[in-house]
Amino acid sequence: MRLPSFPNLIRTLYAFSNATLRHPATTPRSLGLPLNRATIRSMPTIPFLGSFFGSSASEKMSFPDERTPQDWQAVLNKEQFRILREKGTEAPFSGEYDKHAPKDGVYTCAGCNKPIYKAEHKFKSGCGWPAYFDALPGAVTRHTDSTFGMERTEIVCSNCGGHLGHVFKGEGYPTPTDERHCVNSISLKFNPGDPQTGNGRG
Ligand SMILES: [Zn+2]
Repeated sequence: MRLPSFPNLIRTLYAFSNATLRHPATTPRSLGLPLNRATIRSMPTIPFLGSFFGSSASEKMSFPDERTPQDWQAVLNKEQFRILREKGTEAPFSGEYDKHAPKDGVYTCAGCNKPIYKAEHKFKSGCGWPAYFDALPGAVTRHTDSTFGMERTEIVCSNCGGHLGHVFKGEGYPTPTDERHCVNSISLKFNPGDPQTGNGRG
């Protein structure tokens, strides 16, 4: 049953080679011209597409992990959902990691498990929530939060958009950045050791 297809293959190969062999000199030129025209014609559409996607992206932030609220409700407990997905805040001095001071290890997002902070980023601020002076490169995304009549910088997980807390600058803490990432313990999960070496610095 395979044999009948073989002559077809030969015919196709023959027709193809015959066509290319028949006009060896004109083929490169006739191929080149339509390609150039196509390139020029498509150029004006590029800025249009750029502005189209640019305006929609600024209105609604999107993250690589696009789980729906229903998906998150299935994997997070009530308190995690309230803080990570509804931007809640845990009570001060109540969190698991407030007075946590490990030498090594990584704090990952309690929602999607992406590494956010290293143990050496943490410092004692006395504010009642875990404080970090820096995050792993690209791990957090900042944006302005104007709720409660204040202008604050909210930080969310760059992978899932989960709410972490806020960043405060210039408070005078003796840290390399003079920034304080004030983070809910509930938004984080501590992993002793370093699950993703090479992803961070230092
Ligand atoms: Zn996350």
